Order: sequence, then C-alpha cells, then structure tokens
Amino acid sequence: MNNFLAIRSPVGAVMIAAKIVHNRNLEQFKLTMRILVVEDEPKLNKGLVEGLQKRGYAVDFAFDGEEGEKLALWNSYDVIILDIMLPKRDGREVCRTVRTKGKTTPILFLTAKDTIEDKVAGLNDGADDYLVKPFSFDELHARIRALLRRPPLATADILQLDDLRVDTKAQTVTVKGQTLNFTLREYGLLEYLLRNQGIVKTREDILEHVWDRFFDSFSNVVDVHLKNLRKKLPNSYAKRIQTIWGKGYRLV
Ligand code: CA
Repeated sequence: MNNFLAIRSPVGAVMIAAKIVHNRNLEQFKLTMRILVVEDEPKLNKGLVEGLQKRGYAVDFAFDGEEGEKLALWNSYDVIILDIMLPKRDGREVCRTVRTKGKTTPILFLTAKDTIEDKVAGLNDGADDYLVKPFSFDELHARIRALLRRPPLATADILQLDDLRVDTKAQTVTVKGQTLNFTLREYGLLEYLLRNQGIVKTREDILEHVWDRFFDSFSNVVDVHLKNLRKKLPNSYAKRIQTIWGKGYRLV
C-alpha cells in the first residue's frame, strides 16, 4: 500500500490535519526546516512537495538535475531529496558536485534503481540515505527526521573552491596541482571556512571547531592565524576570506 497516494486522497488529508493538531508544537518547530525536492516526474514531485508542506516544512523543488544542482549550491537546505534518473544532469552527478563544493547538506536518494550496487554507488557518491520507489510517505518522513537529527557537519573528503583543492583525509591543499603548506591550525581554519562557505563564523565558532579546549582564550589567536592563512594563500583566494566587522569571518 502506497501511503503517498493515500495522503493525497481526501481521507488522507483529514488524517494529516488531525496529526498536525496533535503535534502542533512539533509542527511549528519544523517550519524552520527547509527541504529541496529534485524529481522529474510531475505528479510525484507535486505529491512530495505538498506532503512535506502539510507536515510543516518549507519546500523548494526542481524537475531536472541542472536546476536542482543550482538550487542546492545557492541555498542552504536541511535535507535534499534527490531522484537519480533525471533530465539534463544525473542525480548522482548532482550529489558528487554538491559534495565537492563542500556542501554537507544531508542527501536522500529517492529512486527506482534498487540493486545493491546502485545503493552502494549512491552512498559512495556522498548520499546519506537511500529509499527505493515505490515508497511509503511515512517511511520517507521518518528517514527525513532521522537525517535532521544528525550533527550538521558531515564529512566530504575533497573540498574545492575553483582551483583550490583540499583533501581532508590527507590534509593537503593544492592550487592547480601545486601544494601549499600550512600549519595544522591554518589548515584547520581553511577547512572549517570551506565547509561553511557563505556563512559568517564568529571567533567563538572558529575556536570551538578548530582549537581544542586548551587554547589561550585571552589572545587574539584566531585573528593571528587567519592573517597567516591569508598571507600563504594566493591573493585571489585570500580576498575571499572576508572580515565581517563585529561578527567574524566568512569565505565567499
Ligand atoms: Ca526520474
């Protein structure tokens, strides 16, 4: 039985309305969660969007891989639901690009491709979960909630900013294949800013994530290391670490 279809029937709608009243506080909390749906089958796309909206999520949608990728890179989502067989750009390619660009948004593949090989390949591309069509909407929702409970910083092995490439496993940084040398802290700063591209990070955020508990909290340690990091980076990249006065730093 496909719950997804039941949800769109009038009987299903009554059931959902009852659930929302029952979980009012929870549903209100979820309004802050933003989901991207990339699915080319119009009816399924509409059903997913409506089903998620009824559960209190803010939902954006795309019908092809190219548009989906653009949205995924431009915006900040809490979860991305991604079909694999998509026009213009395959869902797996979209997933790889999103991860290469340093975005750690949880990605759930929703696809008719159901072999073990397909699942393994999808997860290796950087997806966090995999659900095979036809699916139950309740299961999808449970999986979305599980993804939302995860800590926000998932790991992508390779982070990339134009020609700057950071291998987080080897902890190496290269620009057009040429290695740049950093101290451990400078490297940590660069990786942290890359993982949070476009987001202003305060000195406290940076200290918490890049330094251990035993740093000298009275010094301007973040500013000093950032200055050194900027010096060692090619100018075009150094410029992209912006100082936001009174707030912190942001890599753009
Ligand atoms: Ca498809």
